[in-house]
Amino acid sequence: MTAMMASEKKRAEMLDGKVVADAIKKEVADEVRRLKNTTGIQPTLAAVLVGDDPASAVYVRNKVRTCEEVGITSRKIELADSISTDELLGVVTDLNQDDDVDGILVQLPLPKQIDESAIIEAIDPAKDVDAFHPTNVGLLAMGKPRFVPCTPAGIIELLERNNIDIAGTNACVVGRSQIVGRPVASLLLQRHATVTICHSKTRDLPAVTRQADILVAAIGRPGFIRGDYIKPGATVIDVGVNRLTDANQARDFFGAAADKRIAAITEKGYTLVGDVHPAEADLVAGKRTPVPGGVGLLTVAMLMKNTLQAAKSRRTASK
Ligand code: NAP
Repeated sequence: MTAMMASEKKRAEMLDGKVVADAIKKEVADEVRRLKNTTGIQPTLAAVLVGDDPASAVYVRNKVRTCEEVGITSRKIELADSISTDELLGVVTDLNQDDDVDGILVQLPLPKQIDESAIIEAIDPAKDVDAFHPTNVGLLAMGKPRFVPCTPAGIIELLERNNIDIAGTNACVVGRSQIVGRPVASLLLQRHATVTICHSKTRDLPAVTRQADILVAAIGRPGFIRGDYIKPGATVIDVGVNRLTDANQARDFFGAAADKRIAAITEKGYTLVGDVHPAEADLVAGKRTPVPGGVGLLTVAMLMKNTLQAAKSRRTASK
């Protein structure tokens, strides 16, 4: 299947992450306003950024900006790359004890000298708006979630708000990470899909993924899911965020839409591509999410929703 063919045939319908993310942010903003007016409670998120990784800095900046958009107070705590595990544990403990802080987010990945698990486990589960603490992971696995990790929660919102049936369908998740693959599989199962989880040891991956009515790709490899991995008419959710720097690859991935992408490579050195080959997926899938403009926008919106929920359950429970 060539990229040329993509321009000649019908394209998959795009599932627009911005439309859904904007709707969720509006709901959160309305509820934050109502909460403040009726109870005086002002939800607050503390975002901890360690070191100077440019991608992490962009993610934290987006989160802080979105807090402003929805009326949540944010505190950005920037720490040196050389910080020790003990020092970072001290910062987390202070935030746990600070009654004005409802949500704590420690941007991952952390520098290699830091014990990441120790930091995640130190966060008060009631303030763990990323939902990475073992208590929250366990509650989700039991089907009784307190917080749901933001990217998986966003994927479910995207499906449900686009009226895509989940119950009774075959869903396939490629990737078994703690932050995307496993929790999204759990959420799909809780909504009565028949779920298959694939990974790097799965045999004949395309034969498995081709059974899926809903295919979620969370792999971290540009354009890995080709047209022949997809069941005709399937809904394809592309979680991957990969930087593409090669203009020839961009031409292959984006077909008729490649010129804009190649211009971006020339201008800033890269363009973003997901784990799904977009031009090939367009020929086979019924619906798919674009990258950028798909799942990524939902992740930040769901962080806002979790922070609001944390504020409501912490502060109204203690009154
Ligand atoms: P990860 O922790 O690296 O996990 C990748 C998973 O893909 C692993 O389970 C791995 O299998 C599997 N995999 C790797 N190569 C494979 C292959 N050849 N065939 C089948 N499975 C394979 O990644 P992650 O954190 O889940 O992230 C995945 C992607 O999503 C990345 O591009 C990341 O940037 C993106 N992401 C986006 C958002 C967002 O908001 N849009 C949020 C989080 C992540 P094994 O377990 O066997 O190694």
